[in-house]
Amino acid sequence: MKSLKENFQKSHIIIIGSGVIGKFNALELSELGFQITIIDPNQNKNSSNAALGLLMGNMYQKRKGRSWSLRKQSIELWPKWIEFLREYNQELNIEKPLIQLTTNEEKFKKLEKFIHETNDINLRILDQNSIFIKNTNKAFQTKDMKGMVSSNDGRINTTSLLKTLDTYLKNKKVKFIEDKIIKIRKSNNQWIATSKNNQEIKSEIIILCNSLDAIDLIDNLSHNIKLKPVLGQAIEIGVNDSEVDLLSLPKQLNIDGKNIIPISKEKLIIGSTDEYSTKPENDVFDKLTNFLDTKPNWLMKGQILKKWFGIRSRPDGEPSPIMKNLENGLFICTGFYKNGILLAPACSRWVAKEVEKYFS
Ligand SMILES: Cc1cc2nc3c(=O)[nH]c(=O)nc-3n(C[C@H](O)[C@H](O)[C@H](O)COP(=O)(O)OP(=O)(O)OC[C@H]3O[C@@H](n4cnc5c(N)ncnc54)[C@H](O)[C@@H]3O)c2cc1C
Repeated sequence: MKSLKENFQKSHIIIIGSGVIGKFNALELSELGFQITIIDPNQNKNSSNAALGLLMGNMYQKRKGRSWSLRKQSIELWPKWIEFLREYNQELNIEKPLIQLTTNEEKFKKLEKFIHETNDINLRILDQNSIFIKNTNKAFQTKDMKGMVSSNDGRINTTSLLKTLDTYLKNKKVKFIEDKIIKIRKSNNQWIATSKNNQEIKSEIIILCNSLDAIDLIDNLSHNIKLKPVLGQAIEIGVNDSEVDLLSLPKQLNIDGKNIIPISKEKLIIGSTDEYSTKPENDVFDKLTNFLDTKPNWLMKGQILKKWFGIRSRPDGEPSPIMKNLENGLFICTGFYKNGILLAPACSRWVAKEVEKYFS
């Protein structure tokens, strides 16, 4: 009788979609010995490439249920994957800690209650004299910032992560086809994916990691999965002002829902908007800087140096994300909405377990 590993080595898996979810699944399944083909017509223009890379796991204010358990799993898995991927990129790193601030007294009270009840040594309310609060108040010319520090949350540079995954996948000889899949079907115990350019690719398993478009490929009447597009926009602002040194701010922080990443003394990134839309909006600067009642001069005069957006998929009628075994050998991983980067390791672990079950 053949061993499981021998079976895996002969088995071919198609992954449709090469965002962070598709690539992470390919990574974990390759390590198990499967032959993988990733298919995507546009791998550089997706939500994953737009993401800011914040890993907000521990600071999630709900400590039970599926969403928390996926976050918890990802928090545990991330350091292991970073260590593994460092063989392909020594610089890959999670920059910690993550600071969450608010100027709203009610929100702060909620934070205090959460920290008190959670009793997690990795979360702490920031003292008003802490360097993080002092410097943020100084830079934004306010007195009202309050918040917490999460020493186990942080940020991964998404561009660097995706490039590293590409290097790994190339090294592992994972096949990449630049094409769009327009149809999938099962015939004689095999899955067949048909591409726009009329290629037919056969496999034992298909994993749908193509975000919003996944529903176009499945029989929606029997699976009844609904997804909504949610626009996420981010901007890089340049400041020409000696009034502020942006590097005095924490390395990554969230103020009242806006993520801020200083990248030099004069530049910072702010993201992201959250609209049920697919078209970028022109008033993005106002939307992304509305966390302050009064903006400091340097920010008023700030120039948008770059702006970008991504369309995230959000499940409609069920919680995010959708990870399901749809039918024999067909899996779906979509609807990651705001947390696809954070949850990629938990997703690939789930997929690996399901695929192992399928072959055992
Ligand atoms: C501005 C912004 C900031 C964000 N910040 C964060 C953050 O800080 N932390 C975090 O965890 N998350 C963040 N996110 C969310 C995160 O980016 C998403 O949750 C994640 O990228 C989803 O990954 P994905 O692989 O499911 O989808 P995508 O990255 O969108 O990839 C889907 C891929 O499927 C391909 N595809 C579609 N149809 C087909 C088809 N028929 N055939 C073949 N391929 C197909 C597409 O070309 C695409 O490449 C942010 C998102 C945005 C927009």
